[in-house]
Amino acid sequence: MKFYSTPPAHKTSEGKVKMVDFKAALLRGLGEGGGLYMPEKFPKASNFFDAIKEFISIAEKDLKKICKDAFNFPVPLVELDKNLYILELFHGPTLSFKDFGARFMARAMNYYLAKSGEKLNIIVATSGDTGSAVASGFYGLSNIKVFVLYPGKRISPLQEKQIATLGKNIVALEVKGDFDDCQRLAKEALADAELREKVNLSSANSINIGRLLPQMYYYFHAFNQLTNQLSNKITFVVPSGNFGNLTAGLFAKKTGLPIKKFIAAVNKNSVIPEYLKSGKLKVRKSEMTYSNAMDVGRPSNWARIRELYDHDNDNDNDDDKIRKNISKDIEAIKITEAETKKTIAEVYKKYNYIIDPHTAVGVAAVALTRQSGPKIVLSTAHPAKFKEIVESAVNRKISLPNQLKEVSNKSKQSIIIGKNYKELFNLLINQLTK
Ligand SMILES: *Cc1c(COP(=O)(O)O)cnc(C)c1O
Repeated sequence: MKFYSTPPAHKTSEGKVKMVDFKAALLRGLGEGGGLYMPEKFPKASNFFDAIKEFISIAEKDLKKICKDAFNFPVPLVELDKNLYILELFHGPTLSFKDFGARFMARAMNYYLAKSGEKLNIIVATSGDTGSAVASGFYGLSNIKVFVLYPGKRISPLQEKQIATLGKNIVALEVKGDFDDCQRLAKEALADAELREKVNLSSANSINIGRLLPQMYYYFHAFNQLTNQLSNKITFVVPSGNFGNLTAGLFAKKTGLPIKKFIAAVNKNSVIPEYLKSGKLKVRKSEMTYSNAMDVGRPSNWARIRELYDHDNDNDNDDDKIRKNISKDIEAIKITEAETKKTIAEVYKKYNYIIDPHTAVGVAAVALTRQSGPKIVLSTAHPAKFKEIVESAVNRKISLPNQLKEVSNKSKQSIIIGKNYKELFNLLINQLTK
């Protein structure tokens, strides 16, 4: 299987679409000119493993082992009510669904590096969740060293512990600045020709195709638990920010999983519901909400979704037709802050079940959708990760799961740096692995 990158720099000077293999797409992350890698085709498959092995050029027994190691935690499907199911994706080490993609990507990268004997350095800036999933996902891998830049004092104490207590190949860099400083420092390092000449550098960006493909896993998993009497009738409800999770669901549908419909549930950062109504994609600055991992004003994976529906190639570029085709598969629903909090409270009262604010956006969308039949809401994070708002909605204390209890007892080992790039450079030059 080959992968191409979405425009602009996706063609050779002779006008042919440039293709790379999975290894190159994985290790590069972004295509030339900032495009996103897409599979050239979608072979049909009847289960997750048969699907993923078509995309990924790793020997079958090694790929099986990578999947087994990466997905080493349960994924329960909870029936809350008739036709309402919750798929708990938060039982991994950092308690969000991002563990699936980060753990798989780390192991796939390590596989290729071990073969070639190369070493790789990952530099990632984080405002919280992505950093912990990446740090935990790469922890202990022999050929990769990870530098996580995070804004000291601006992330929650528990989030900091998840990043800064690991040690070994994970270097926690506590920046005296905000998230934008971290991101700027990471970009400068990744673009630094002097560093690049000496070592292999990459980012663990969330738009890496190596994080998306493994996320098909739990769509197949959930479907298989419900199917028989329900096949062809199931709607998935996906709390969305950058739309990576939903893109993975569309990939699963393309490989043959007969999903009826997707509901994209978003918070007040509602660029996509507005686009599906008006046809105009108006990106803007993000606004802060309770479901902060979905505070995205410019959803990065939308380019992939558009590409999936741009069937007749880019010549006529019929935007209206593309939008109509997207609307056949995806309904987008916006949920307000008040509805989010109220839904956490109502679900607790009615079912004695506690959900996090991202999952609440999904459950609230179920009440507003036009779709009939069974719905599976993807529960993207454990409620304890968003303790303050959840406790205030359900009016009781909630306990920490073991993963969080364990880190809260460990001591922090970070390196504090200023926001001047020279300081980061001097540190990296001594610490990067060759
Ligand atoms: C990242 C994240 C999301 C959004 O996922 P996308 O793939 O960016 O749409 C939703 N919920 C939680 C808890 C997340 O961490």
